[in-house]
Order: sequence, then structure tokens, then C-alpha cells
Amino acid sequence: MIQLPEKVRYIINRVMEAGYEAYAVGGCIRDSILGRTPDDWDITTSATPEQVKALFDHTIDTGIQHGTVTVMIEREGFEVTTYRIDGEYEDGRHPKEVTFTPSLREDLRRRDFTINAMAYNDETGLVDVFGGIDDIKRKIIRCVGDPKERFREDALRMMRAVRFSAQLGYEIEESTAAAIQELNENLTYVSAERIQVELVKLVTSPHPENLRLAYETGITQVILPEFDRCMETEQNNPHHCYSVGEHILKSMEEVRADKILRLTMLFHDIGKPERLIVDEKGIHHFYGHPDLSAEMARGILRRLKFDNQTIYLVTHVVKYHDYDVKPEPVCVRRAIMKTGEDIFPLLLEVKAADMRAQSTYMRAEKEEKLKAVYRVYEHVMAEKQCISLKELAVTGRDLMENTGIPAGPGLGEMLKKLLDFVVEDPSRNERETLLKAAKELKAGHFTGN
Ligand code: ATP
Ligand code: MG
Repeated sequence: MIQLPEKVRYIINRVMEAGYEAYAVGGCIRDSILGRTPDDWDITTSATPEQVKALFDHTIDTGIQHGTVTVMIEREGFEVTTYRIDGEYEDGRHPKEVTFTPSLREDLRRRDFTINAMAYNDETGLVDVFGGIDDIKRKIIRCVGDPKERFREDALRMMRAVRFSAQLGYEIEESTAAAIQELNENLTYVSAERIQVELVKLVTSPHPENLRLAYETGITQVILPEFDRCMETEQNNPHHCYSVGEHILKSMEEVRADKILRLTMLFHDIGKPERLIVDEKGIHHFYGHPDLSAEMARGILRRLKFDNQTIYLVTHVVKYHDYDVKPEPVCVRRAIMKTGEDIFPLLLEVKAADMRAQSTYMRAEKEEKLKAVYRVYEHVMAEKQCISLKELAVTGRDLMENTGIPAGPGLGEMLKKLLDFVVEDPSRNERETLLKAAKELKAGHFTGN
């Protein structure tokens, strides 16, 4: 029932022919049983790293102190790790100290969840000593051994529990969830990099709304307290039917499973609690929340050590998520110019998801308007209409040579004015028209035609 890839079978057989044990293990076995294609195949073995290295022509010492050697087969790498018992995990990616063991069972016991603690090779078949198959059948995330002990060893496992539940649509077993509830504060000591990895896997999963589980078990209180405030902020407003937090969860479900888009939804309203005002009719308003949300998103993403490109994209889409775009070519061109060519298409997807996570009040109108904006956008792009200096039919040099404007800030300003002139009407994007306009602007008797 488990089909090992050719190269994995080759490695396992080679190690076994030399007299050691070897199995494919962990995520790849879980995914195979689930009928999913594993990202990578990890191999676990009774052979020591030195013994593994002696068996293959090309190996890389990936994490030799933790027992891991990467075996290269035709430029593809496979991690082969010696059976081990982990000590306590430190702040980093790996346990502080490891002890090698001759026992597969011990190696499986150090693994986080029952569904991740199964091994397989063609000779022995499936090795499932902790009831992984049962838990897959019952759709349950359950720690191997005592959950409290396991979370004390490595607090990140609490986030991994929620992440796997979101990826697989599973529930977290009761005592495992209770242990998270009790030990969530230990996440304070886990590195931002490790938390980031799990958060991204969680929000880009088929069930991003399972972030709710992270809230209910107290995880977000430690790693994302800003979200807890959203869960506690109601929105008494005809456009809404959920609390800010529930709206955020719903909006993540409504957008494509892309890292930037999901993170944008997570943060688009994160500043709302701070901006809440109640009018004389008791209606809630959140004026100015997009700017604050963008600012807060920047702070949170930095705290979680995200890269600059991600921070740039997410904060900009968040900032403009409420920017009103009318379905008219001039407005769309101006909006693309204002938000940026990279941001605008993301913005349209975010606006659609945001709308679908609101109440149905005026839904048809909102939908129609967005669709119309999208059509105009497609048209503007298909025609390669001018929306930046790149497409302008004159360059700074043209202006210097033909209108006598000298190099300097005045030249840049003139180009901007010409761009505005063209964005109003793409048919003006012709060299002669623009040179004439530039001369008129320079002389101060601009006619605009
Ligand atoms: P995916 O790669 O799809 O995210 P995975 O299950 O392969 O999921 P990895 O982080 O690649 O997860 O780890 C591989 C295996 O190593 C896991 O299946 C599990 O058996 C074990 N493992 C990983 N991290 C931990 C941890 N923090 N504590 C205990 N075991 C772990
Ligand atoms: Mg993996």
C-alpha cells in the first residue's frame, strides 16, 4: 500500500544489505497513507552516520551531530538519520543533545504525534507502535506519550498540533489540547523563525480558520495577542455579521491559499479594536483602521522575523484594502499607479475575500462593482495602457533634447505631470503630443489638448 520511490528503495536496500535496519519514516509515511504526495522522504536507520557515509559515493554532512547525513542520488538529496533519542530542544531547530539508539521503537517514540511516528520498508511493512493508523482513521492529532512531557521538551509542538489539524482537517485529542492550554506560555522561549514556519503552514493550509484553535488553546495569546483582541471585538454594523476575529478567519478561508494573500487577510483588520468608535445609534465604526493595521502588521511580521519582500507586500495590500476603486478606466489606472503594479492584482483578490466574509447586506452590488473593476483592470493591462514612466512615450532625455528642460528635479516633475496627463487619457501617449504638452507646461500656458 505504500509505494516507495525508486531512489528511496535503493537507499534502504543498500543500507539493509550492509546489515543495518532502514525505514522511510515520519511525514512521508503519513502522507502516503493519506494518498497525498510527500514533499520529501526521510529515512531512519540503525547505522551510524559514518557507516551510512561509507555506503554511498556522494553524501553531505547536513547535521552529522544530530545523526543526519544527506545521501545524494543523481542530484536529489535524501536525509538519512540514525535512530536517536532526543534530549530537550533548545531555542533552535534541533535538540540540544541526542543519543543514538539501536531501537526503531525509541526513534519513533521521540516523534511528536502518532500520525508522524510510523515507519515503513518493503521487508517489514508498516511499523505503527503508537496507533498512528487508528488516529488517521479517527482524524485525531495525538501526542506520542504524555502530552505535557512532550510539550515541555519542545513547546513548538503545540503549534505543530494546530498546524497539522489545519492541514488535515483533524481534531486535537482532548488531553493533547488540555496540555496546550496549560503550557502555551512555554512558546515564549521558542525562536521566532520556528514559529514563523508553523504559522505560515497553518494559514496556507486548507483550514486556515483553525487558527481559532490556536486562540482557544491560548497559543495566540502568546505569539499573536493582537489577534485575541480581534476575537473580543464585536462589529455592530450592517456590513458585518461576525466579530473582527471571526471575520478575519472567514476572510482567510475566502482567499486563495497563497502565503501573501492569507497573511494579508490575517492582518487586514488587525488594527480595528484600537480604532473602534460607537456612534449615537450604537453602530460601530473603525475609521482609519487600514493604516493602523498596516503599521501593526509590519511590527508583527518583523517580530516573527519575516523577510522584507513578504513584509513589503503584506503591509501594502493591507494599507490599501479599503481603498475605493471605481470601475472606470481612469480610476483603475490611478489606483494601479497609487498602489503599485505588483500590489493591485493582489488587492483585487483581497477585496473579494473581504467582501465574502462580510454580511450579505448589499452583497450583489459589491460583487458587481468588484467584477466590473476586474474587467477594467484586465482591459487596461491587455492594452498595455500607460500607468508608469516605463510606458510613457517620452523619456527624460527626449525632454532635455527637445524642450530644453535641464537635468534635475524639474525634469522628474515634468515627467510626472506628463504621466498624470496620459493616465487621464491613454490616447495622449504619443511623442509629439507629449513634447507639445511639455513645452506648454514649461512656458506656463498649458492648454491640455
Ligand atoms: P511537513 O514536512 O509536511 O511539514 P513533516 O511531518 O514531514 O511535515 P517535518 O518538520 O518535515 O514534518 O519533520 C519530519 C518528521 O520529524 C515528523 O513527521 C516527525 O516525525 C518528526 N519531527 C519533526 N519535528 C519534530 C518535533 N519538533 N518534535 C518531535 N518530532 C518532530
Ligand atoms: Mg517533512
